[in-house]
Amino acid sequence: MRRSCQPAFAVPIRAWRAFLALLAWLLACALMPALAGAQPVQTAAIQAPPLPVPAQVLDARLGVHPDKTRFVMELTEAVAFRVEPQASPASVVVELGNARWAGGILPGRGLVSAIASEMVTADRLRLVLATTVPVRIAWAEVIPPRDGKPPRFILDLEPSAGAAADRRAVGSLSPLPGTGGTSAATVAASLASAPRPPIPPKERPKAPELPLIVLDAGHGGQDPGAIGVNGIHEKDVTLAMARELRRQLLATGRYRVVMTRDKDVFLPLRDRAAVARSNDAHLFISLHADSMSSRKVRGLSVYTLSDKASDREAEMLAQRENKADAAGGLNLKTQSAEVANILISLSQREKMNQSRRFAGLVVSSLDKNIAVLPSPLRSAGFGVLTAPDVPSVLVEMGYLSHAQDASLLNNATHRRRMAASLVRAVDGYFSPGAGRKRS
Ligand code: ZN
Repeated sequence: MRRSCQPAFAVPIRAWRAFLALLAWLLACALMPALAGAQPVQTAAIQAPPLPVPAQVLDARLGVHPDKTRFVMELTEAVAFRVEPQASPASVVVELGNARWAGGILPGRGLVSAIASEMVTADRLRLVLATTVPVRIAWAEVIPPRDGKPPRFILDLEPSAGAAADRRAVGSLSPLPGTGGTSAATVAASLASAPRPPIPPKERPKAPELPLIVLDAGHGGQDPGAIGVNGIHEKDVTLAMARELRRQLLATGRYRVVMTRDKDVFLPLRDRAAVARSNDAHLFISLHADSMSSRKVRGLSVYTLSDKASDREAEMLAQRENKADAAGGLNLKTQSAEVANILISLSQREKMNQSRRFAGLVVSSLDKNIAVLPSPLRSAGFGVLTAPDVPSVLVEMGYLSHAQDASLLNNATHRRRMAASLVRAVDGYFSPGAGRKRS
């Protein structure tokens, strides 16, 4: 319990300290060359008389989605804005023209570790969103008042794939008003009602939370995964198993569960990892079913990441993963490469002991009726690409190329039994001593 729960409290404190240092540094120097120095003309615009009614911030909140983190600000008026992602340190700078807010420093969620706000001038608001990884701007827009809702600034952030994506995103955004200050975006419908005081964003619960387990049903959508000798698709087996495991985990009342997918959709590997990361998951379980040319091999196995491989190997695998993702998952290579890709994107060296401990518990907790490979504890021999903080395992539940395994994985009773075994392993992981031995 202690080992598994400590990071949940320690990480935010470390992140907080790091953020404060980062904030001081950001505000002191780094942003000014990018924002002010590059376009000195705007300084003149800032000195110009402010518009009559500066926009007030009514609400600011962060929402975590499987593929993105969304920042929403409700305003009394539509304003012009400028958004600029920064790769190092990872952050996003937002400037709003003709807006006022005393938001201070706000806690983060998802890809955002914290938000700092300050008034650059009397009517220019700057926000710095410190992010856990470099991000790209997927969407940024001020939506005019509609259906009784106030104007909203919406910013969608995704993990960055590279510098090119960042630049492209910036190019599509509205700039702040120029020297004339007559940009049509600057002045929008002003609300008749008096500005309400800002409402602080919702904070995360402070009380100790139940451990959060992310279940990842492998493959999906146009990527079927392995095809069984009986015609079943791996993507359907993994989803059925993930749903059953979620049901049983929630039934204990001891865990929270998030699924990377709960329908038949394609999800890039990096997005699966992002779900675990953005939810501050305590454990990540990726479910798969193997296949090979020999139809005699059967049994379950559990993979963790090996940290012995070279960086070059890891990078080559990442390139293959990106290719597969770009093609909608149709080009997935061999199962072993796939396993390695997923684990590389999910694991971190410091978390490897926890991952291995849980993998051992999976095997020792298994129902005796479930076949296992002769050496069920395995590791993919590749290095770490990213550094998420989540212990991760990949369970190959059996071989769809083996007639009996394929038949069992297609059987709800068998899946219930296997899910019960995994719940025992989870219990053992979070409460040492609670896990039952394989009998
Ligand atoms: Zn698979």
